[in-house]
Amino acid sequence: MEKEQRDIGGRKLAAEAGLPVVECFYSLQGEGFHSGWPAFFIRLAGCRNACAFCDTKESWDEAGYPLHSPEDLRDEALSFGASACVVTGGEPMLHDLDALCGCLRKAGLRLWLETSGSEPMSGNWDWICLSPKKGIPVVDKAWYDSATELKVVIESEADFAFAEAEAGKVCGDCVCFLQAEWGMSQDLMPVLLDYILRHPRWKLSLQTHKMLGVR
Ligand code: SF4
Repeated sequence: MEKEQRDIGGRKLAAEAGLPVVECFYSLQGEGFHSGWPAFFIRLAGCRNACAFCDTKESWDEAGYPLHSPEDLRDEALSFGASACVVTGGEPMLHDLDALCGCLRKAGLRLWLETSGSEPMSGNWDWICLSPKKGIPVVDKAWYDSATELKVVIESEADFAFAEAEAGKVCGDCVCFLQAEWGMSQDLMPVLLDYILRHPRWKLSLQTHKMLGVR
């Protein structure tokens, strides 16, 4: 109950005072289904999941990040001529994103979400990339039902069983990706390729932005 009250309080604050933003920038989506597509990225602060392989640890603590209104974020996206926004984190679903989605959608932007599914859903999305993390439950079946993309990070061969269990929960037309943990990718790639060739529901996600040295 205490956690629920804190959640509701946090959401209220976010909706009224703006959203804590780690960074926003215009770039190419580096990984998954939209790899290579240009988009305006909004990286929101806050995450409780503490994944060991997280490459955005600076986003975990919301404190100190400036609050942005949906209108500010919309105007910045439009200033680049963006046609799509990627909302990511941190775990963006720590915040109530109804107002942000409404504002961006009204401006004609397509809305792509990256989430671990560890928080309840808000907002209205054109594309949901669900990236569940081992040991961190997906809190709502709605995430599995509405995911358009499933992306599982593989740290070792033992993670294939987790990936298959998650793939069994999403809809049949959800596009499923395996992605090697960046630090292990050289060692894991042969295993990953072999696995995908033998299990063709999966596709390979590469972190091309890191290969190119762009954000
Ligand atoms: S859910 Fe994402 S942002 Fe949060 S700790 Fe895990 S990898 Fe990092």
